[in-house]
Amino acid sequence: MNVKFWGTRGSIPVPGKDTTIYGGNTTCLEITLESGRIIVIDSGTGIRPLGEQLTNYRAKVDIHLLITHIHWDHLWGFPFFDPVYDPTSKIRIDGFPTCMKGLRATFDNKMGDGFFPIKFDDLKAEIQYLDTLSHGPLKIDSVIVDCIPLQHPQGGFGFRFREGKKTLVFITDNELTDEAWAGRRLEDYVEFCKDADVLIHDAQYTPEEREARRGWGHSDYVAALKLALESHAKRLVLFHHDPSRKDPEVVSFKNHCEDVAEKKKVDIIIDAAKEGSEFIL
Ligand SMILES: [Zn+2]
Ligand SMILES: [Zn+2]
Repeated sequence: MNVKFWGTRGSIPVPGKDTTIYGGNTTCLEITLESGRIIVIDSGTGIRPLGEQLTNYRAKVDIHLLITHIHWDHLWGFPFFDPVYDPTSKIRIDGFPTCMKGLRATFDNKMGDGFFPIKFDDLKAEIQYLDTLSHGPLKIDSVIVDCIPLQHPQGGFGFRFREGKKTLVFITDNELTDEAWAGRRLEDYVEFCKDADVLIHDAQYTPEEREARRGWGHSDYVAALKLALESHAKRLVLFHHDPSRKDPEVVSFKNHCEDVAEKKKVDIIIDAAKEGSEFIL
């Protein structure tokens, strides 16, 4: 699997001088399987430049789009995803049960016309809703995708991808806490992430910020590290950076996690997700 980050930011896009390293676009990842097939996670604003690349370099776009949940920051790039306007494109959608409702709502808002000039039904691409992940694993070529419910207001799914001996886990918008306010305990996530080669997890807050925002559905970087260590992940990637977070602060989170891991003598690679960066596993 090759994984590329097109959007790493949480809540709202924040372009500008303070986010040039880690990026200002909201959640979007591109996973390329060994077969060459592409899986896209979420359609935050990062999906716009991804769409440009796909239409420029591929004769025909044929992708899976997996949606974690339907908060705006994970959806609102969809009307600007070029392949939806191309009749040769094929987009297979799966993920959290409300995902189709959410993607439609970016075009058709019942609250009133006038927000966007195009209707969902006018899109040219072949868009198919698979509705598999709510009921069990999804197989796409050589990869098996599983999901786990999130501790996040209005819910969501985290995803695990297993291809051959490699495991990638992507969990964003998830509050890791002992309180299990949405019915999930840390042990559940530890089990889901067990021995992951790469764990990408929500690390929006500092521990102090998280304390002040209990129930908002996001984790601090210390909690993300704890999950990575307990599940024996080989690499942790901090994700869903807070919109107010400047680049040097993201670096300090990464450094703090590295120091803790070193003190505990645990061999783990710590990264913070950078827009435009990619890795192979
Ligand atoms: Zn989010
Ligand atoms: Zn959310």
